[in-house]
Parts: sequence; C-alpha cells; structure tokens
Amino acid sequence: MNPNAPKAPQKLAILGSTGSIGTQALDVISRKPELFKATVLTAHSRAELLIEQARQFLPDHVVIVNESKYSEVKEALSGLPIEVHTGADALVSVVCLEQVDMVLTALVGFSGLRPTMAAIEHGKPIALANKETLVVAGEIVMAAAAARNVPIIPVDSEHSALFQCMVGEEQNPVEKIYLTASGGPFRGFSLEQLRMVTKAQALKHPNWEMGAKITIDSASMMNKGLEVIEAKWLFDLDNSQIDVIVHPQSIIHSIVQFEDGSMKAQMGLPDMRLPIQYAMAYPQRVENDFPRFNFLDYPSLTFEQVDTSVFKNLDLAFRALDRGGNMACILNAANEITNRMFLDERIRFTDIADFNEAAMEQVEFIPNPSLEDLFETDSATRAWVRAAVEQVKP
Ligand code: NDP
Ligand code: MG
Repeated sequence: MNPNAPKAPQKLAILGSTGSIGTQALDVISRKPELFKATVLTAHSRAELLIEQARQFLPDHVVIVNESKYSEVKEALSGLPIEVHTGADALVSVVCLEQVDMVLTALVGFSGLRPTMAAIEHGKPIALANKETLVVAGEIVMAAAAARNVPIIPVDSEHSALFQCMVGEEQNPVEKIYLTASGGPFRGFSLEQLRMVTKAQALKHPNWEMGAKITIDSASMMNKGLEVIEAKWLFDLDNSQIDVIVHPQSIIHSIVQFEDGSMKAQMGLPDMRLPIQYAMAYPQRVENDFPRFNFLDYPSLTFEQVDTSVFKNLDLAFRALDRGGNMACILNAANEITNRMFLDERIRFTDIADFNEAAMEQVEFIPNPSLEDLFETDSATRAWVRAAVEQVKP
C-alpha cells in the first residue's frame, strides 16, 4: 500500500461541476465511488443540471453563484441533506470546509483565482483545470502553495503529461519542454482566411469537446499561449525552456527533454477523464475501461511549426512572460472580453488578438503586482477593452 495514497473515498469540492471538465469529473467519480466522493458541487447559472447532479451525487453543499437561481435550487433540493449557497463569496467558503480533501478547479476564467487562493490557504490540495488562475497570478499562487506545502496537480492534458513525465525525475533538471497543440480548426489558414471565419467554425474543435471559451481560445491559439504561461509557473521554467509544436492527432500530450537529451512523452487517446482521474488519485494510477489507443489507427503522428504571424496570440503570451509583472493578467483579462465578444458576434476572429495586443500596450503596467493590484488590473483591462471596441464598433 502506498503510504502517500489519498484516503478513500477522497472527498472533492468540484468548482464548476456543470461544465465540460466538471461533468467528466463526475463521470470518473460515479465509476469509482469507493475512491471518490463529491462533497461540494458548484455552478454559475445552470440550475437544472446542478439540481440533477445534486440528486444523483448527494453532496453536503452546493453553490449556485447566480443569485437569481438560488430559490429554484433551494426548493428543488429541500428535503435532502444538502446545504444550498449562492453568490461568488460562497465559492470561497465551501472550499475551506473541513470535510474537503481536494478542490478541483473546473470553473472558467479569472473567477477561479479567489477560491483557489482560499483553498491553498486552508491547505487543500488542488486539481487544477482552471489555467487562468496561474496565468493571472502564477507567481503568487505557486508561492502560497509552496509556503503551505500544498500540492497543485494539473488537469490540463499537456500539463498532466509533463507532470507524469517528471514523476520520479525530481533530481534531474529539465532542459526544455514541448507543449503539443492540435492546431485547432484553422490550422494552416492565412491571416486573410482567418479574418473571415465564423463563430460556428471556431466552435468545432477537431479533437476535443470542451466549453465554449476554451474552444474559441484553442482556435485562436490563445489557449496554447495561456498554457505556456501555466507551464512556466507549474514547473518553474525559464521562458526559453518552453516550446510549442503542432501535433494535429493530439496523441502525444506533451514532452519533457532532460539534460542528457533524453525525451519523455506521455501519450494516449484524447480523453480528459484520464488527466482528471490522474490528478484526483495521484500518486496512484487507477484502472479503468476508457478506450485504449491502437497504433494501427494512427499510422503517422505528425508535427509542424506554429505560424505566429497568423496566430498572434501565442506570440503575445511569450511577450507577456518576457515582460512579467501584471502583463499576463492584462492579456488574460483582455482575452476574456474579446473571446466573449467574438462569441456574441460583436468582433471578428482576428480582432481578438488585435485588441489583446492593444490592451497590453495601453493598460498600466505594474512590475511587481500584489494580488489586489491584479484584481484592479483585471477590472481596468476589461473596461479598457470594452471602451476600445465601442469606439471602433459602436
Ligand atoms: P465550461 O464552460 O464547460 O464550464 C465552466 C464551469 O464553470 C461551469 O460549471 C460554469 O457554470 C462555471 N462558471 C462559469 N463562469 C463562472 C463564474 N463566473 N463563477 C463561477 N462559476 C462559473 O468550461 P470547461 O469545463 O471547458 O473549462 C473549465 C476550465 O478548465 C477552464 O479554465 C479551461 O481552460 C480548463 N480546461 C478545460 C478543458 C476541457 O476539455 N474542457 C481542458 C483543459 C483545461 P454554469 O454551467 O452554470 O455556467
Ligand atoms: Mg490543454
């Protein structure tokens, strides 16, 4: 028996249980009730699905962040031993509950930062899907986790791959890492072609079924840019140690190159349940019946360079890392707004990167931001981008 194995069943707070990662986490939990229990479930607005999940998994607490949905959830769950909370502050209080053994951060965007910090301060191990938290405040979050000895286990498939390649290599410095990217639906497009793409095209990812925000980020390569920043903080790398390679089949999930030139890759079919389960059960691996990879279905695995003159967001992420300070926070906040505006069909696809870049040039740069500064940067950037778009597209 592994002495580091989590106690069973491991009680999980699932922030964002109604999303793509959240529902897949519940699928993993439902297959292994002896190992995992959902003790907290949270959603923003999808009350019906949250109610259905609560009836099935009987958590001790649920949070519906949108206050206008509170009475619907409260009434539907009355008679069950489930406490119902509402408002964004409730996310912070539920992660700190004594019975929570681990927090899976599967909510989207900047909203993940406060609850993740609170969970770390209360010593709760984090299974981290919400990459934006590390993009915005990676230095502060990782320092808080190190100070309290709180593990942060990545769920993002590339970072889970890197993490898995590094297990057992603690004495061996990493020379560099390669993050793989599928290239998304617009791989090989010219800037002219990219200018004309529609929301429906951007929402069709070739290999992964995900929430709307990350699907657009994948199409615009912002997702890979955010992952570069996420990797820097998770694995304490210099910017020059991080490379991105397009691998359209999404079978090799990422690669670590060690000082002797040896490379370790983690591979498998694209199925997010695997990195989710790995993070929840770490350091154990748990048997399952998810579909297995067959080499003969993939006679060739191929690799290409990203064209950053077309997919500018990736370049912006490297620039934000080189600049440091609050620059990645500015990029993230700008992108949350431009991503939403593209989904609302207010701006064109290529406007996403153009406004992101403009925000990086215009919003006040802070070299050594505190957490409070980052909250201010986030709001200031959102306001700046909204005004900038309003000016050219009233
Ligand atoms: P979804 O949009 O599918 O789900 C987001 C979840 O968060 C939902 O439960 C949603 O509630 C909730 N939520 C949204 N906004 C807020 C808010 N402001 N406050 C509180 N809760 C909120 O996203 P994904 O599951 O695709 O992604 C979640 C995170 O995981 C993202 O950071 C993404 O980058 C990352 N990730 C996702 C992958 C994937 O395969 N999907 C892969 C790798 C990383 P409601 O349903 O009520 O709106
Ligand atoms: Mg990823």
